[in-house]
Amino acid sequence: MIEIRWRYDPDADPVQRSPATAEEALLLLHMGNRAFADLGRDGAGGQYVIPVSAEELGIGAGDGSAIPQTPMAVVLGCADARVPLELIFSQTANDLFVVRVAGNVLGGESVGSIDFALARIPSVRLVSVVGHTGCGAVKAAVDAYLDPSSYLGLSANLPLRGIVDSLLAAVQAADNALRSQYGHDRGDRPGYYEALWGCAVVLNAAVAGDAVRRMFSPYLSDELAVAFGVVPACSRHRTLKLWVRSWPSW
Ligand SMILES: [Zn+2]
Repeated sequence: MIEIRWRYDPDADPVQRSPATAEEALLLLHMGNRAFADLGRDGAGGQYVIPVSAEELGIGAGDGSAIPQTPMAVVLGCADARVPLELIFSQTANDLFVVRVAGNVLGGESVGSIDFALARIPSVRLVSVVGHTGCGAVKAAVDAYLDPSSYLGLSANLPLRGIVDSLLAAVQAADNALRSQYGHDRGDRPGYYEALWGCAVVLNAAVAGDAVRRMFSPYLSDELAVAFGVVPACSRHRTLKLWVRSWPSW
């Protein structure tokens, strides 16, 4: 049996999840993801308990007003239902400022949400772009790239087309990378489609992370950095993550 539980214990010490630096925030996400990933590994059962405060549950003492937001990280992730971000990082309420949109693309609303968090929430120490394997939005962009006729079906659907358009640069970059590594006949090789899809997922997260870094550079320091990564979805390694790069480096 696998059990993941939020626990409020009035007799326990107060919950402390307030990293002082970006590196500490990234470490907390790493540790949380590792704890989640280890559950059920090799067929074993397990239990993971996440302490939560009364205030985070909305049952604390007070005048009934909402507590301040104190997330340690902003996470831009895909809307995919298989990638619940608080769960895979073993976090609870008020720990993450989550922005979810198909393909974890940067559009006006997602950039504005990140801007709000960085400008108005001083507890934020990290902005993370988290892609995932098996991403349907990236797959749609791969299909449009390989078979432009499939793109015509999106021509009248401007919102969906906008998402696919945002992803095509990553697909192009992935194809270029595969071509430089494996040659121009790469498209004829078995597994090419899956390789292009997977590579595009990683590059899409990287491109978005780099764009966030450029857009919000005045905010960045050792106390606030940008990272990106990919979590595998729906396989036996579902929760293992790959953090590829972070800015500024430390
Ligand atoms: Zn996705």
